Amino acid sequence: MKSDYSQVRLTGWGLTSPSHARTAKVPRGEMGEHVKDSSGRGIVMRGLGRSYGDAAQNAGGTVLTLADSVAQAVLDTEQGTLTVGAGVSLHDLLQIIVPRGFFIPVSPGTRFVTVGGAIASDIHGKNHHLEGSFGNHVRRLSLLLADGTVKELGPDQDAPLFWATVGGMGLTGIILDATFSLIGIESSRCIVNTVRCQNIDELFEEMSHGDDEHRYSVAWVDLLATGAKLGRSVLWRGDHARLSDLSTKDAIDPLHYAPKHLTTVPALVPSFGLVNSWTSTIFNELWLRKEPRRKVGTIKNIPAYFHPLDAIGSWNRLYGRGGFLQYQFVVPFGQEKTLRRIIEMVAISKTASPLVVLKRFGQSNPGPMSFPIPGWTLTVDMSCVASGVSELLHNLDSMVVEAGGRHYLAKDAHTTPSVIRRGYLRLDEWKAIQRSVDPSGVWQSDLARRLELI
Ligand SMILES: Cc1cc2nc3c(=O)[nH]c(=O)nc-3n(C[C@H](O)[C@H](O)[C@H](O)COP(=O)(O)OP(=O)(O)OC[C@H]3O[C@@H](n4cnc5c(N)ncnc54)[C@H](O)[C@@H]3O)c2cc1C
Repeated sequence: MKSDYSQVRLTGWGLTSPSHARTAKVPRGEMGEHVKDSSGRGIVMRGLGRSYGDAAQNAGGTVLTLADSVAQAVLDTEQGTLTVGAGVSLHDLLQIIVPRGFFIPVSPGTRFVTVGGAIASDIHGKNHHLEGSFGNHVRRLSLLLADGTVKELGPDQDAPLFWATVGGMGLTGIILDATFSLIGIESSRCIVNTVRCQNIDELFEEMSHGDDEHRYSVAWVDLLATGAKLGRSVLWRGDHARLSDLSTKDAIDPLHYAPKHLTTVPALVPSFGLVNSWTSTIFNELWLRKEPRRKVGTIKNIPAYFHPLDAIGSWNRLYGRGGFLQYQFVVPFGQEKTLRRIIEMVAISKTASPLVVLKRFGQSNPGPMSFPIPGWTLTVDMSCVASGVSELLHNLDSMVVEAGGRHYLAKDAHTTPSVIRRGYLRLDEWKAIQRSVDPSGVWQSDLARRLELI
């Protein structure tokens, strides 16, 4: 019995470039049958659709999701590993692992992503400078190939295909399940130090010299400030709190984990959205004022430190019907001048929303399409209706690749094949592996066609 299809209009989290596809939610055991049934427009997997652009869309083709249950997850407390179906979300996992003293090895800014999506995008978190991206922590996975067979892969088992799948955006096959290592924690709280920086040079200096002493580090940057205040920012660095760091009250239930949902943005937001340069300027000013110049030892719980935006459902609707772009790139260390110039150009253009993050990446992993390289990664949300965005970003694209940088495929909705080719120097090596496991082009997506990845 094969799950039924329905025709659905899909977008990414940025709500741009909708396309229609036939979709089905499929139990693992039926996936092979659906793959055999692929039409000429092929198949792509979709997790929770949290990539910002068109990575999990396939116009005129098939988009499948895995029907998995967290109840089948196997936590090995001795080894500190978890084996789980790839359709399970980090949100569901955290509810079972945190109370047992474990945390996910890499946490993105939202917990509403699946394990399959985390591996396919090789996601990074606030700990990349020390611990790498999600793929670094995957011990094994099983991959359903285009010919219907299932292959076991790992860093020591068919390593080329394993690493082509990590960051391969679902284009090597369907990740069915995976085993990855976890972080042992004594409490569900984090101990956080805050530094407010007057400008971008102060922030570069602060991050270059203090990040390695903390497991987690990320900075928020006011990308509307110019002149002497260019790049004014707030840097938060943290670690998992030990039992001895907790107050007597918190120590009663040190692994308590209960993320709160505050509200959901209604579908009735005006079509032009609520995020513009006026509202963003006011927000940034208030946000900066509430942060202390320097403070150590603030205790925060996991949702407040890692996933503050998740408390508000459908916040992407705030940008209105035109949607928004998240522009994320990395430039190598030593390219601070280019980064500073990019920050200046964005600040002058007044196109950035308050959601801007700067982070230092550590070492890359062997994945040819894995995004992180040692350097600075900047993430900027911009409303698509802000004037001049497209021209600005095309100029920035050239600056990024000329500086030896690249763009993050999981966030992309605007770059071009040549920008990706110039940024991902091992694209041809990846394509050769991809073609060897999918000679007839079963795996396809809007992203893959737009950027000529396959
Ligand atoms: C608020 C917010 C904050 C974010 N913060 C970060 C961050 O800090 N760091 C970061 O790296 N990313 C971040 N992201 C991006 C997000 O982590 C990635 O886009 C992630 O891949 C989304 O997972 P998903 O399950 O929603 O996958 P989808 O968006 O549905 O799909 C993403 C890709 O994974 C593929 N895929 C999904 N499941 C499978 C499977 N079973 N087998 C094979 N391929 C599959 C899809 O085909 C697609 O190419 C953020 C996103 C949001 C909305």
